[in-house]
Amino acid sequence: MKLYNSATRKREDFVPNHPDIVKMYTCGPTVYHYAHIGNLRSYIMEDVLEKALRYEGYPVKRVMNITDVGHLTSDADEGEDKMLKGARREHKSVMEIAKFYTDAFFSDCAKLNIKTPDVVEPATNCIDEYIKIISKLMDTGYAYFAGGNVYFDTSKLERYYIFNDFSAEDLDVGVREGVEEDLNKRNKNDFVLWFTKSKFEDQALKWDSPWGVGYPGWHIECSGISMKHLGEDLDIHCGGVDNAFPHHTNEIAQSESYLGHKWCNLWFHVAHLNTSSGKMSKSSGEFLTVSLLEQKGYDPLAYRFFCLQSHYRKSLVFTWENLDNAQLAYNKLTARVGALKPEDGPVDEAALAAMKERFLNALDNDLNSSLAVTAVYDVFKAKTNDATKLAAIGDFDRVLSLDLIARGEQKRQELKRQAVTAGQFTVVSESGESDPEVEAKILARQEAKKAKNFAEADRIRDELKAAGIEVTDIPHGAKWKRI
Ligand SMILES: [Zn+2]
Repeated sequence: MKLYNSATRKREDFVPNHPDIVKMYTCGPTVYHYAHIGNLRSYIMEDVLEKALRYEGYPVKRVMNITDVGHLTSDADEGEDKMLKGARREHKSVMEIAKFYTDAFFSDCAKLNIKTPDVVEPATNCIDEYIKIISKLMDTGYAYFAGGNVYFDTSKLERYYIFNDFSAEDLDVGVREGVEEDLNKRNKNDFVLWFTKSKFEDQALKWDSPWGVGYPGWHIECSGISMKHLGEDLDIHCGGVDNAFPHHTNEIAQSESYLGHKWCNLWFHVAHLNTSSGKMSKSSGEFLTVSLLEQKGYDPLAYRFFCLQSHYRKSLVFTWENLDNAQLAYNKLTARVGALKPEDGPVDEAALAAMKERFLNALDNDLNSSLAVTAVYDVFKAKTNDATKLAAIGDFDRVLSLDLIARGEQKRQELKRQAVTAGQFTVVSESGESDPEVEAKILARQEAKKAKNFAEADRIRDELKAAGIEVTDIPHGAKWKRI
């Protein structure tokens, strides 16, 4: 599998450090508000990556943090605390806010078929880990204490800017205008590892530490949680591209200074979801959430489909028109799956292997999800039977997670019901189940009645009764139940 590595700016062959495990770390949400669909694009594409690795036979262990403390509104260490801001907005405690929005995040993920990582760890669970790392950084001179806070000294590093192909504007985020400069810092990009002198007197969550009562900075969380569950090295670290600087840059700085060796091999960054007016955010324009899409009548999986149709490293423009097109294409695709006949078999293993090969090539090509979707469309054109096509689509959906087989089956049942209701005669079951054989017999009985062949109609009714089916006539149709 070839994947683009943001740290080397090259496509590389993916080779895990250990044969028995792929260690994957994902920056989780800051749980102070709903996730917008731009954030969720990253989680969808990271989910595709994890499932592609598993599809290729790698045993993956994936860890994600939940930021429930210490993330300030600026991505540097200035600005307002995001969790406190959320708590004030909703007149709740910080812990209540964290619980509510953690649940909301996983409910959105479930709707988008995003698998929950093997380990999900709230930042507030790992204070001892952060203290251990910060203590060693203090002892080895990589960190200093000033004005009540502990800072990482970026001047101690030979190379601080790892992701330096990003724009100068991104790199300046720590010192942008309108943000108060922290005079305790020795260098402009130094960042806080531990706060004891916070601007926020009412910070709710505080812990004892060698430097006084306080709370951790945002960046140290991911290093601490990753090392707690995955040890001293990582195969893949994922996140949205907006986290490359300063967050991931700072994670590398503190982790490698602490460990004394390279930490993570491959950095997987998902590009932005933009609106027609620019980068999507919670504060500008419409606040686009999964719930809003549902309220407007969209299927969350149509949004997943929309994301899959584009490569993860390309920015994607969201418009309602684009989502309409994706919803339409998704409906058509599931209808085509529904039109395949499962009884048209047996599965042709050679044809199936050829189709899988094509799909695998798409994944191996820097996770080209749009080519992977094309591989699904190619299945319909293949010269093989329907059972083989359904087997291929079911297999690909282990990675795509678009519920193609289940939605196809729904469409198949809908078509049957439409056939049953044709001619103004409706056959329904009391339990809501659908049974083509029973429905066909009830329709045959109706035909016999129309032709005044009452003996035949009675014979069919008795036959159904013998099979445990009771039929009752209703206006313009018949109702049946199992007895
Ligand atoms: Zn992180």
